[in-house]
Amino acid sequence: MKSYNLYIHVPFCLSKCNYCAFFSRACKKPDWQNYEHNIITELKYWAEKLGKIFISTVFFGGGTPSLMPSQPFENIIKTIKSCFNLDPDCEITLEANPGTLDKQKLKDFYNAGVNRLSIGIQSLNDEKLKFLGRVHNAEQALFLLNSAQKLGLRVSADFIYGLPNETACDVIKICKDINSLGLSHCSMYELTIEQGTPFGKANLQMPSNDEMAEMYKAISETLDLPRYEVSNYAKPGEECKHNQNVWDGESYIGIGNGAAGRILINDVWYEQMGNQQKFEKISNETRALERLITGMRQVRGIKLDSDIKKIINFDFINKSPTLLKINSENRLATTEKGMLILDDLLLNLTR
Ligand code: SF4
Repeated sequence: MKSYNLYIHVPFCLSKCNYCAFFSRACKKPDWQNYEHNIITELKYWAEKLGKIFISTVFFGGGTPSLMPSQPFENIIKTIKSCFNLDPDCEITLEANPGTLDKQKLKDFYNAGVNRLSIGIQSLNDEKLKFLGRVHNAEQALFLLNSAQKLGLRVSADFIYGLPNETACDVIKICKDINSLGLSHCSMYELTIEQGTPFGKANLQMPSNDEMAEMYKAISETLDLPRYEVSNYAKPGEECKHNQNVWDGESYIGIGNGAAGRILINDVWYEQMGNQQKFEKISNETRALERLITGMRQVRGIKLDSDIKKIINFDFINKSPTLLKINSENRLATTEKGMLILDDLLLNLTR
């Protein structure tokens, strides 16, 4: 059965972090009633357009989705359940920031259907959290993590490495601390400096590319969890299903201001943004290229289906056995060495 994935964007944050270029804005008192109304309107629009489609994952991303009070959240989930055919094992992820959820609210979200929590911890060091412009401290992060684990949620945590003056030794220490948290999934993001952010204007002395590469290597050598995507690590079976589906090239619908999607209808791909902002056909070739770029970020690579075969350069693959491989599941993947130069590889991989 063809399955779809829902991404629901929540664009509000308590304040903007110093490195953040995501579509979100600082807002102490968002108009949640209006937000709920808009999201429900969009959900109904897609139900009307696509029918009672099968939904295998729902991901509330942001922004800070955990800022949402439980009532609008419950109403949104109820609408999803009534409009669509939800997989009984549907993965429902909520991105959460420490300090925005107490035990009761966490329980309310859990009772409403959330079964996976992705926590933006970023660092276990209060000085570094302050530098990054985060509004929480390490104690609040550990409190949320422990509460979620006790409740039986699948828990992931995000961390940032590669801060100015950080070395591979620091990253090894960070990974050892992460190992003690009992996580089954975590994301390790290299700090990147984006234009227009406070860090973009600060002229920071960042680690060199070689130093960043050493840190990246130190992560896979120290973390207890194996890497399954460029920045993601999980126990086998605990990977984020939503992201895997999107990276593999399944249809996903972006709900909420600024959220984008790719939807296959009657064998034609559409690029979508909101229910009014954009809905345009894209060619199979363009879509295959997008799928190649996201799919190759995975350790398992991308399935070699007919559309992917049409755009890739088999000569280059055959000439690069230390960088690329075709595995037993007929997926094209990088070797460990290839993963380090993925961007260069992608340039040569297409015809
Ligand atoms: S909490 Fe996340 S989305 Fe919000 S400003 Fe910080 S990094 Fe950006």
